[in-house]
Order: sequence, then structure tokens, then C-alpha cells
Amino acid sequence: MNSIKGQGGMDDLIVGAGFAGATCARRLADAGHRVLVIDKRPHVGGNAFDRRDEHGLLVHEYGPHIFHTNSEKVFAFLSRFTEWRAYEHRVVAAVEGQLLPIPINRTTINRLYGLDLDEAGVTEFLARARMPREPLRTSEDVVLNAVGPDLCDKFFRGYTRKQWGLELGELSAGVAARIPTRTNDDDRYFADRFQAMPAQGYTRMFERMLDHPNIELSLGCDFNAVRHSIVRRRTIYTGPIDEYFEHRLGKLPYRSLRFEHEHLKDTVQLQPVGTVNYPNDHAYTRITEFKHLTGETHAGTSIVREFPCAQGDPYYPIPAADNESLYKRYEALADAEPDTVFVGRLAQYRYYNMDQVVAAALALTD
Ligand code: FAD
Ligand code: UDP
Repeated sequence: MNSIKGQGGMDDLIVGAGFAGATCARRLADAGHRVLVIDKRPHVGGNAFDRRDEHGLLVHEYGPHIFHTNSEKVFAFLSRFTEWRAYEHRVVAAVEGQLLPIPINRTTINRLYGLDLDEAGVTEFLARARMPREPLRTSEDVVLNAVGPDLCDKFFRGYTRKQWGLELGELSAGVAARIPTRTNDDDRYFADRFQAMPAQGYTRMFERMLDHPNIELSLGCDFNAVRHSIVRRRTIYTGPIDEYFEHRLGKLPYRSLRFEHEHLKDTVQLQPVGTVNYPNDHAYTRITEFKHLTGETHAGTSIVREFPCAQGDPYYPIPAADNESLYKRYEALADAEPDTVFVGRLAQYRYYNMDQVVAAALALTD
């Protein structure tokens, strides 16, 4: 790697220029460390990377990324590198010919069943519909316990089968527990205190985060090609943990997606909200229309469809008991690894949101 200037020796080699890697890099650089960040992709931002498409609209290459957090610390850290555009994400699900709010709320229930319940009425409705489960071990337990079999079948079973290639009952409780159930009319996807989009996009925010005299960046650089040649005191690794150990204990399963981007020339707005979920139809799970997220105006509109698949880049750890126990065995190897730390969604095999990755990286570098 002749192109890497800091070959004479640096403090930290950081593998991955996504949220985990970039946060660690900036924190360590601010503290005076000399840092080399490498990423095998040709861009920064990891899965949050966004770009202008050929029609000039800002799109998220790897699917819709909506920033939300309850952590003042995380929000303050990122605010050093971006201004924000206030944005509260809304999602509807196409069910039985209607577009109904998900998370399930009062509107969902009234419109689906042709009712006119108030909040107390919805609470009673759900009390009759739900199937109390104890303990809540799987995602099926979580959904049946919250809303019962009919709403489970209409909103969750098909979507989950598509998204994960698994049944609800095969997934850990935490997956479905991401989606609350509401008795009021709140139709926001997230309830966090801070909900906003980087005003000039994620990529710009990452560029600013990594713009520091102590940070050297090498894109298109695979760790496997340089792991034995780069002189450093420490490695911070944010890629898939099983890959670091050359799959010594077997492959950890990850779920992949194929993204189908499309621009609709003469459509100002395709759908009423940022994302429409298709729990029961199509091979894709959802369509996201970026103009809702970015607030941009244009005579046309750009969308992305997400097709889940088993092969391809690893996007999601798959939270299930067997996978979690295999991860624990890799974690034991990681704990014994001298001078390497593992942080991030793929390195910690956790279904982390962006803010949780930043929080983990801040905690690590504190
Ligand atoms: P990554 O972003 O995956 O970064 C890891 C980087 O390491 C990658 O760039 C990769 O190229 C690099 N790398 C891996 N191996 C090597 C190697 N051998 N050599 C060099 N480089 C390597 N979160 C939210 O908060 N809100 C959302 O709305 C949201 N939507 C999402 C939608 C989708 C479709 C997906 C897949 C995720 C979504 N997320 C969302 C989660 C979010 O993407 C992650 O939490 C976050 O991007 C993880 O950051 P990371 O740094 O841990 O990993
Ligand atoms: N889910 C579902 N139906 C929906 C939305 C979500 O069954 O309409 C389930 C599904 O298993 C999904 C999980 O809840 O994978 C988490 O959804 P989320 O929107 O948080 O997924 P992400 O944005 O991370 O892909």
C-alpha cells in the first residue's frame, strides 16, 4: 500500500469509515492520536452513505436512514459536523387495500375494522384481541402479546418472513419489540426526543467528521490486504467479527438486501409518507421516497425498493438464539485478541441503530 502516507507508524488503524469507525477516528484524533482509517468501499459513511442521483436528488445508496435518538450526548457530538433538518418519519402499511399507520395506533384499528373507538375503546379492543404470553422469548410472543393473531397475521408475519427468511417464532423478542403499539393517534415511526436528518446529507457529515490533520483516510483498501503490513499500536475493527477471525468458528449469518433505485420522471410525489411497507404483497418489503426525508423539491421523484436476500453484503445481524451463542464464542476470541477492539453493528453482532453505534463508539473512546 504505497499510497498510505503514515506507514512510518501510527497509533490507531481503524477498519471501516461508517458511524463506528468515523466516531472513533474523530475522538482519537481530537485527543492527539495519529489515526489511519481504511474502508474497502470507495466512499465514507458505511451503510449511511448518501449521494446525488443522476437527476440531482439526494438518495441513500443502502436504504433509508432516518436519524433518531434520545441521547443528548450522541446528538451533541454529531451536531459538531452537521446542521439538521427537522424530520419525523411516518410509515404506512398496505393492508387489505388500505394504507394504514404502522406502528399500529387508533387510526389503524378504526380504519381496518370500520370502528370509531376512542383511546379507552382501543385499549379495551387490544385487551380482548391480545394473547398474553409469558415470558416474551420470541418475536411471535411479543406481537401476539401486544395485538393478538389477526393484527399479527396482517402486519407482521408476512413482512418478517420476507425480511428475515424466518418465522416470527424463530427470531429473538428484540426484533419485533422495536415496533410499539399505540392506542392514540401518534403516527410517527419513532418516539425519540431528537429526530432529524443531516441538512446536507450523511456523506457530508462524515466528510466533516473525518476532516482532521491527525486523520488519514484510505478508501478502496481492504483490511485483509494490509492487516500484516501496517505498523500500528492498536486496531479498531468495525467489520463483521467472523470475517476478522477468518470464520474460524463457522460463519455468522447476516441478512442482506438488494436495493432497487428508481426515478419517476413526471411524478412530483408517489406516496403520502416517506415509507410504505408491503407486509403481504411483492418480493420487496418497502418503498421509500426520498423527497419526504430530505425536503427537496423536483419535478420527478426518486425511490428505493428493498428486496431481502440471503447472499450479498451483510446488512443485518440475525437476532436468533443459535446465532447469538455463536457470536458469544467469537466475542470470547475478541476479548483475548491483543490490541484490537471491536465496535459497531457487524463487529458486535447487534441490531444497532445509528445512534447506538455512535454511543458505543463514544463509550469506547471515553
Ligand atoms: P457500517 O455502516 O456497516 O460500516 C462498516 C464499514 O466497514 C463499511 O463501510 C464496510 O465497507 C467497512 N468494512 C467492512 N469490512 C472491511 C474490511 N475487511 N476492510 C475494510 N473495510 C471494511 N439506523 C438508524 O438509526 N435509522 C435508520 O433509519 C436505519 N435504517 C437502516 C436501513 C437499512 C436498510 C440498514 C441496512 C440499516 C439501517 N440502519 C438505520 C442501521 C445503520 O445503518 C447502522 O446502525 C450503522 O450504519 C452501522 O454503522 P457501523 O459503523 O457499525 O457499520
Ligand atoms: N415489522 C413487521 N412489519 C412492519 C414493520 C416491521 O413485521 O410493517 C417487523 C419485521 O420483523 C422487521 C422488524 O419489525 O424486521 C423491525 O422493523 P424496523 O422497521 O425497525 O426494521 P429496519 O428499519 O431496521 O429494517
